[in-house]
Amino acid sequence: MRAAVIGAGLSGLSAAFGLLKETRKRGFSLELRVFEKKERAGGTISSRREEGYLLESGPNGFLDSKPSTLELAEDLRLSGELIATAAPAARRYIYTGGKLHPVPSRPQEFLAGGLVSPAGKLRMALEFFVRARRDYGDESVASFVRRRLGSEALEKLIGPMVSGIYAGDPDALSIMAAFPRMRQLEREYGSLLAAMARIGRGGGPPGKLTSFAGGMERLVTALEAALPSGIEKNATVSVLRRRGARWELALGGGTWEADAVVFAVPAYNLKTLFPPLSGLCGRIGYAPINVFYAGFDTSGTAGAPDGFGFLATRQAGLRALGAVFSSNIFAGRAPDGRRLVTVMSGGVMDPGAADRPETDVAGDSGKALEAALGIKTAPEFTRLARHRAAIPQYPVGFPAEREAAERTLAAEKGLFLAGNAFYGVGVNDCTKRGAEAAALAAGYLAGRE
Ligand SMILES: Cc1cc2nc3c(=O)[nH]c(=O)nc-3n(C[C@H](O)[C@H](O)[C@H](O)COP(=O)(O)OP(=O)(O)OC[C@H]3O[C@@H](n4cnc5c(N)ncnc54)[C@H](O)[C@@H]3O)c2cc1C
Repeated sequence: MRAAVIGAGLSGLSAAFGLLKETRKRGFSLELRVFEKKERAGGTISSRREEGYLLESGPNGFLDSKPSTLELAEDLRLSGELIATAAPAARRYIYTGGKLHPVPSRPQEFLAGGLVSPAGKLRMALEFFVRARRDYGDESVASFVRRRLGSEALEKLIGPMVSGIYAGDPDALSIMAAFPRMRQLEREYGSLLAAMARIGRGGGPPGKLTSFAGGMERLVTALEAALPSGIEKNATVSVLRRRGARWELALGGGTWEADAVVFAVPAYNLKTLFPPLSGLCGRIGYAPINVFYAGFDTSGTAGAPDGFGFLATRQAGLRALGAVFSSNIFAGRAPDGRRLVTVMSGGVMDPGAADRPETDVAGDSGKALEAALGIKTAPEFTRLARHRAAIPQYPVGFPAEREAAERTLAAEKGLFLAGNAFYGVGVNDCTKRGAEAAALAAGYLAGRE
């Protein structure tokens, strides 16, 4: 049997690794080829060392509260290289109204804190009495939050969270796709506050942010090393055609036929690769992100808080989404006596961000660090990484459209879908769906053996 994986980002690599594992388990041999358009594997993930700093241009880590990435690390014998955030680094902040506010992790902290005004708090408390929507219909994140918690909660709590995860616009993003758990809690408990009281949890995300001593790219290099036939790089699959019971892939230098194909490419690439899904793919927008690294002598950042980092509200007036205190979160991210802060800017609200001159991005990042953290000294080390199309944006109605896309693919036989364009943007989502797509493809191939 032959299988192809198109795209060697984390989703495609997880699917390829899963395919080998599943077919070995089921006792049949597989000829597997993984095609990657660029000269390197990893897609969004890249970790590089410069002047003693470890620069992550994509994810900083993943939460250890979901199993898929940890299991993958274990399969790859990487468990000994895992590192987790220290407790003091868990503190997160929101910058609004010219001030940095700690994100409350318990109800008492929320009530005592000044992030939300007394009127805003009262409105949030009234959530308990807001009539619940028990149906499975979708709406935007903003509409859901305004309806249940009020506008101030949207501006100061959920809006920054949308920036932090999606660099997105709450008015355009689907609640069912972006934060399905919130709608589920409304349906099941009638109110988010009632759900928190019953489940006993509020505040920040569960679990510890986890990475590898050498950075997130360690997962990519280990996956690549675990694929006996390797990854074919600079290999863009341009067209896919049905050939009897197989699929023919057209590549620059020729064609190859596979019994099963896993797509693990961004929506804007899938659009041309598999036109029956072009309608949905065309409606998935992407946010640009600039990642600006600033390295300081620690004496220059005295007074700046410890913790994980901060997110800015849209109304805060910064041309930055927020910053991550990279060297606080994990050891080995900056040389001794130095501190690394990574400022993210762009997002769907700043669509031209990826084309801004580097000096402008550096200037605005410096202003953000001064306003939020009081850092007045110029960094002694700077670098900039850009993503033109960083994070997919799930439009309202997306879950139903994804189901329709899955039906279209199922009717075609032999085509399987993975990737952050469809199954969640987190590292854990990508590894989970990669493994699922592999299991589905292996089951299909086993049936044809
Ligand atoms: C700045 C930033 C910070 C992030 N931070 C976090 C974080 O802290 N935690 C977290 O959990 N997640 C984070 N994420 C999200 C997470 O990193 C991504 O969702 C994930 O890495 C996407 O993996 P993927 O394989 O689905 O897609 P991609 O990485 O986009 O990979 C797709 C691959 O397909 C290839 N390709 C496209 N078309 C073709 C073709 N026709 N033929 C062959 N190959 C093709 C591309 O070249 C690419 O390599 C972050 C993302 C960004 C951008």
